[in-house]
Amino acid sequence: MIGATKPNSDDAANYAHVAAHRKKNYGESLPVRLTPQVMIHYGSYGSRVMAAGGPQPHKFGAGEHDALKENANFLTHVQFSDLRRDVISAAVQKGRCAYCNQHDAGQVDHYLPKSKFGEYSIYSENLVPICSICNLKKLNRYKCEKGERLFLHPYFDRLPSGSVPFVKATLTFAKSVIIKFELVQIPGIGNDIWKILRNQFEALGLPARYTLDATREMQSMKDAFYVYYSRGGDTLVDYIQVQLGTKSNAFGPNHWLPVMLKAIAESKEFCSGGFKKLGPPTPI
Ligand SMILES: [Zn+2]
Repeated sequence: MIGATKPNSDDAANYAHVAAHRKKNYGESLPVRLTPQVMIHYGSYGSRVMAAGGPQPHKFGAGEHDALKENANFLTHVQFSDLRRDVISAAVQKGRCAYCNQHDAGQVDHYLPKSKFGEYSIYSENLVPICSICNLKKLNRYKCEKGERLFLHPYFDRLPSGSVPFVKATLTFAKSVIIKFELVQIPGIGNDIWKILRNQFEALGLPARYTLDATREMQSMKDAFYVYYSRGGDTLVDYIQVQLGTKSNAFGPNHWLPVMLKAIAESKEFCSGGFKKLGPPTPI
């Protein structure tokens, strides 16, 4: 759930390159013949994706859709690695997945799935950096049953970029410290974006994934919590606040780590000894 900058790519040249390669090496002339149609689609990609209800798959003739879908294999496996590399390395902010803001982005997602939208299978605005976990969860989905988009488009949809987070964590103290993540519709998030943001949060299983990482992180910080707490006063709060500032600068305010640090820094119960429910300090 972070914006990303689309790769600077000559899409017409890329398509021509792949189509010519397929004709020369495999005798397939269909991709070349489809060039005018595909170029028309390229020109309207952004407006079609962002239209209310999102795009519908184009009705191509027999074999045409499959031929265009097949281009994606050249992007992935054959000789077309530059665009793929640009999408992964240059387009994403800070190298993280544009969908979860959690893991490194090592793969390329087709925002509009190549199985349904073959015409965009090598179009740079449709290629988004993604982590392997999100890729497995997203699969070939793009709309929910209600017809709403399931995922924000990292190149077109914009979320508020200020310091007020729209991801929030809440702590409860039972046998251990339990942390749960939710979304908050802060000013700047319109109702349309809000619906998609919530769809994406659920479709990718982000609450549980964030809880898992945050719980592990709190465990790893447990010994430090004991040390700073033993010094009395606000020492523990100050320590967490410093960590919060550092991580917020590094990852942005909506990454699970600064969101977790904000929640524990603001929890009087946690900072006045509730952290001990994470377990005793590690014996030296
Ligand atoms: Zn991801």
